[in-house]
Amino acid sequence: MKAIILGGGVTGCAAARELSAKKYDVTIIEKNNYLGGGCHTFFWGGHPYTEGPRPFHVENEKIFNYINEIVPMRLFHLYLDTYIEKDRNFYSFPIHWDDIQLMPDKEKILRELDNLPKCNDATNLEDGWLNSVGPTLYGKYVKTYTEKMWEVDSNKVFEDFSWSVKGRPIQKGDRTVELAIGKPNHAYPIEETGYNRFFDFCVKDAKVILGKTIEKVDLEKKIVYLDNEKIRADIIISTIALDDLMENTYGELRYMGRDFYPIVLPVEYAFKDGHHFIHYPNTEKYTRIVEYKAITGHKSPYTLLVMEVPSHSNKLYSYNIKSEKEKAMLYLNNLPKDVYAVGRLGTYRYLTIGQCFENVWELMGKLN
Ligand SMILES: Cc1cc2nc3c(=O)[nH]c(=O)nc-3n(C[C@H](O)[C@H](O)[C@H](O)COP(=O)(O)OP(=O)(O)OC[C@H]3O[C@@H](n4cnc5c(N)ncnc54)[C@H](O)[C@@H]3O)c2cc1C
Repeated sequence: MKAIILGGGVTGCAAARELSAKKYDVTIIEKNNYLGGGCHTFFWGGHPYTEGPRPFHVENEKIFNYINEIVPMRLFHLYLDTYIEKDRNFYSFPIHWDDIQLMPDKEKILRELDNLPKCNDATNLEDGWLNSVGPTLYGKYVKTYTEKMWEVDSNKVFEDFSWSVKGRPIQKGDRTVELAIGKPNHAYPIEETGYNRFFDFCVKDAKVILGKTIEKVDLEKKIVYLDNEKIRADIIISTIALDDLMENTYGELRYMGRDFYPIVLPVEYAFKDGHHFIHYPNTEKYTRIVEYKAITGHKSPYTLLVMEVPSHSNKLYSYNIKSEKEKAMLYLNNLPKDVYAVGRLGTYRYLTIGQCFENVWELMGKLN
């Protein structure tokens, strides 16, 4: 059986690994001249980095081992900060009870917290946060960050909390982002090249075509047209955007992307106490700055920061909005026989790296 995989990110590579194990004859096509999508490790001034911090959420042992058996991983607690310009101060994220005590408007915040509704029956992200932390904390940490991240006028357009720290808006004690206090549940490859060797391992038995953008696919006949070449298969597994795959048949899907700006500073560490990234929820154009050494463990007398600016130069984030999700379902429900869509772009869902693997494993259960 022949399989063509469209897209060589995390999902496409995992699909190649699984299909090769099932003895499929696999061809994987990727538009970049490297594998891994945003999880590919690049170097800037000798410092390794990825596009966006990609520490691995260890959802369970099977997921962890899937990478760890190929590239050994280091486990750690993830620490985030937020810079509140109005307060001229850095605070932890998730919002921490001890930080509230340091805020100039502490009394007002405490009054708001005392007057929160007993039951949070909000039907959108903004009301969900207002009901959880009140207007002042929502304004400081979430409102502008989320609006600029998604280029929306109001966070009421989002139907739930999937982009927030659900159910745990204010934290006490431990300051990590882990839900399971005590046990670190973030991991990152120990080697300098990050996940790269994992991607190479996944495709070792496949034919890999790099640097080719897929523009035309006959899904019914399972033919991919590349330049003057026609590649035929028995099944197609797509990890590319659904609207690109089906030539906008049901309309364009809405995405947000990001531009990444690397900056080297002449200090060993810029962030305090090994913190990994800082959110900027004020009127600055950027949303987040990441200190990569804290994630990669790279040793250098200097440090690399990468600033993230929301943009439309790439498709990275699908919108958690009813109309867009319904449009994505139209695409998914109309895929011809033996064509499967998986992964983050493929399903139009915000999936973590581990969830992309689970998505592939679920599909493999359905194939011979
Ligand atoms: C900024 C950011 C930070 C993240 N941080 C984390 C994190 O810390 N931890 C975590 O677990 N998850 C994180 N995620 C989510 C996780 O990284 C993704 O879910 C995962 O990498 C998606 O993999 P994928 O293969 O499904 O999609 P992609 O990585 O998007 O792969 C799709 C591939 O298809 C290629 N492609 C697209 N169109 C075409 C075409 N027409 N022709 C040929 N090739 C094409 C692309 O170049 C890409 O390589 C983050 C996501 C983002 C955007």
